[in-house]
Amino acid sequence: MNQQRQSKRLDPMSTRNTDWFWDEAAEGRLSIQKCGNCGAMHHPPRPICPECHSAERVPTPMSGRGTIYSFMRVSYPPPIGFDEPPIVALVDLEEGGIRLITNIVDATLEELVNDAPVVVDFEKTASGKSLPVFRLAGKAGAA
Ligand SMILES: [Zn+2]
Repeated sequence: MNQQRQSKRLDPMSTRNTDWFWDEAAEGRLSIQKCGNCGAMHHPPRPICPECHSAERVPTPMSGRGTIYSFMRVSYPPPIGFDEPPIVALVDLEEGGIRLITNIVDATLEELVNDAPVVVDFEKTASGKSLPVFRLAGKAGAA
């Protein structure tokens, strides 16, 4: 867990279909929605399985390892809740088939390349909720 000065990050939006995801993150787990009927994995969380329409969902912990599919630094318009313009990335989880929109932290654009291995970490929001972010694997501070 990254302990840093008071975060300015905005809180995730709370909905009955996504609260379980943020509860998992608060426990330090990156979990993905798995259909309790057909076993299909989906992200972001949604009310029913798009494959079989079942409403039975099973939060399934992931390894937290993945690779960068693509990345960019967002600087305009100035993002709210960040001291520095954040790096936004698409990360493919090693479990396959799941791509997250996330932030890469403690890295510069020059250090990043597509397919670079990354590991999940969690950063706090202004009110203390946890957000999954990723760090370069093998870099100091990464798991
Ligand atoms: Zn299903």
